[in-house]
Amino acid sequence: MSNDLDRLDTLWIEALKNVRRKISETVFNLWLEPLLPISFEAGVLHLEAPNDFFCGWVRNHYDGLLLEAARDANPAVTGISFSARDREQAENTAEKTAAPAPAPPVENSGRPAEKTRRQARLGARLNPAYTFDSFIIGNCNRLAHAAALSVSQSPGTAYNPLFIYGPVGVGKTHLMQAIGAAGGETDRRQVAYLSCEQFLNEFIISLQNKSTSAFRNCFRELDILLIDDIQFIGRKPETQQEFFHTFNALYNEHKQVILSCDRPPKEIKDIEKRLVSRFEWGIVVDISPPDFETRVAIIKSKAQGKSFLLPDEVSFFLAENLEGNVRVLEGALNKLIACSRLYERREIDLDFTREILGGAFREQQRRTNITVPFIMETVSRYYNVRLAELKGSGRSAPVIIPRQVAAYLARRLTDASLPTLGSFFGGKNHTTILYACRKIEQKLADDVSFREEVAQLEAKIKQDMT
Ligand code: ADP
Ligand code: MG
Repeated sequence: MSNDLDRLDTLWIEALKNVRRKISETVFNLWLEPLLPISFEAGVLHLEAPNDFFCGWVRNHYDGLLLEAARDANPAVTGISFSARDREQAENTAEKTAAPAPAPPVENSGRPAEKTRRQARLGARLNPAYTFDSFIIGNCNRLAHAAALSVSQSPGTAYNPLFIYGPVGVGKTHLMQAIGAAGGETDRRQVAYLSCEQFLNEFIISLQNKSTSAFRNCFRELDILLIDDIQFIGRKPETQQEFFHTFNALYNEHKQVILSCDRPPKEIKDIEKRLVSRFEWGIVVDISPPDFETRVAIIKSKAQGKSFLLPDEVSFFLAENLEGNVRVLEGALNKLIACSRLYERREIDLDFTREILGGAFREQQRRTNITVPFIMETVSRYYNVRLAELKGSGRSAPVIIPRQVAAYLARRLTDASLPTLGSFFGGKNHTTILYACRKIEQKLADDVSFREEVAQLEAKIKQDMT
């Protein structure tokens, strides 16, 4: 038995090695890594996929590729078969592994080692730490959390689609994955969570392989589709069109669609109007950076999750000094935990925290030091245009570019909101500021020397401010 298992493992590892050379890492990690070899009998290698959706997908897209790779590893392979994981069996195994009772005999349990491995791999797609339980609710995310919870309890009926937007590191991915995890557990719903990039990749591959109808069918069989960071669909008209049809098909069948984005639907760059209007059909909720109290609660809960004793004064200190992005906060905590282990410190106090995280605080400080007027001044000197002209509405070319560059840099280097920026630029509307940023981003993409010019300016601003 164990020899058979070894043989199976070796075959699968070799096959994966072969296939890895032929496809992108994203595709490999997303679709092939989670597969599990179950048996190799009568020339057929049997693989197990996390769920039906996954199973259908790999069968339609990677069957030939996998067969070739397995055959290269062992010429005795004549075919590949796929099945979806039996959920109940997996749940039973989870209970058994959790219980302190002695391990069941090998014959009854199948292959315990394999099952543990399978669970570990399945978990790799959704982060198991991202649950509703571990999500801290504050004023910044209350509505988004409530909407997410109600969607997870009655998908396809409450709010469809659910569109969550907000800046980076405020918990959008966390909330989406919490919905995904809850949806997959109850009623055996078919759930797919993909980043926008993965959706794009899959679509491109299906175009290359002329398998767009298989692509369509797979998505349209879902109960819940979650796409993270949908802003990247901008400027990709074909993918937009495809997504539009997928969206309609799911929506008409009362299947739930959940999207996250770094901005509201209307502000996504170069996107079809009909998609924007679909995105706004259900509910659009935003998450803003957490306030002080929520930051403290998040740090405490993260520390607790890692069984790390964090004195209140340190939690307060971190929350006071690291604003905005929760990921930065979490990174600081992780560093603190790692260093405390390294130096074998049981007690973490303020001095130790300052010593370890000094750099992180300085970085944040630098960002908050840069002000909009300072950026405007530097830009006006650099291009030799008057400040009044930057604030004015003159449309001559020598003024327009510097004004747009100043708006772009102010947006990039400060935390000022769009309306605040508008007021610095002579009371302009926030859409004017957004338009300016967009124009500059376009020009940066197309024009190398302009890119250098703006990079130089940015470096100058940062340097002068520190
Ligand atoms: P986003 O997708 O908005 O960029 P993430 O969901 O990746 O942000 O969140 C970044 C990190 O911050 C994650 O580790 C997440 O668990 C944590 N986080 C953000 N908001 C919260 C919250 N309200 N409660 C608990 N953890 C949070
Ligand atoms: Mg995210």
